[in-house]
Amino acid sequence: MNIRKLIAGNWKMNGTVAVLSEIETIAAGTPDSVDVAICPPFTLIAPASGRGVPIGAQDCHSASTGAHTGCVSVAMLKEAGATLCIVGHSERRADNFETDSDVRAKAEAAQAGGLIAIVCVGETLKQRDAGEAISVVQGQLAGSLPENRDGLVVAYEPVWAIGTGRTPTTGDVADMHAAIRAVVGPAVRILYGGSVKPSNAAELLAVPNVDGALVGGASLTAADFLPIVAAAA
Ligand code: PEP
Repeated sequence: MNIRKLIAGNWKMNGTVAVLSEIETIAAGTPDSVDVAICPPFTLIAPASGRGVPIGAQDCHSASTGAHTGCVSVAMLKEAGATLCIVGHSERRADNFETDSDVRAKAEAAQAGGLIAIVCVGETLKQRDAGEAISVVQGQLAGSLPENRDGLVVAYEPVWAIGTGRTPTTGDVADMHAAIRAVVGPAVRILYGGSVKPSNAAELLAVPNVDGALVGGASLTAADFLPIVAAAA
């Protein structure tokens, strides 16, 4: 199945209104054949919207309202202009103790509210070194994925590759993405994430079953992000 590639940027806790012109530069430089999205911090979702690039959130709450101090619901994200939502990023799983079932509840809430859910999975270095990478990710998929696969996106992000400059071999990426494909079926986009940059994007995006990338550090400027987008064209 021929799936259009998606290059999604995760700005994490970076960015202010002053840098939002990067989004217009990204919009202007994106070829028609590639989908892009930028996921800025919550505070930038509204001002980032309407600049020519779909905007996503980095997290959501699974409840629609209530006593959840510091949290943001899907309806709030939608009202601010978001069309996508990352859930289960490894930094949230580690820093905020999010479990697979929390991640599934968030993905279901995102879908029910009309957002595209990007569900993140990935093993630690200890798990990879123990030969458990594929079984760990299969377990995360079993616990985190919503039943509804319409428009669903899965991002495979080995924890040890995030922000480290290290990446798995293309063979390891191929094996993992094939294992994920076997679970999710032919229509779900499977992104690779973890130290994607202009110099390695083409080889990673050429791996079978890699339908795009989730990009952290290299999504913060159009100068770094656009060559990655071009590699997906
Ligand atoms: C991420 O945090 O989703 C990520 C992939 O980060 P980086 O590209 O900086 O490794």
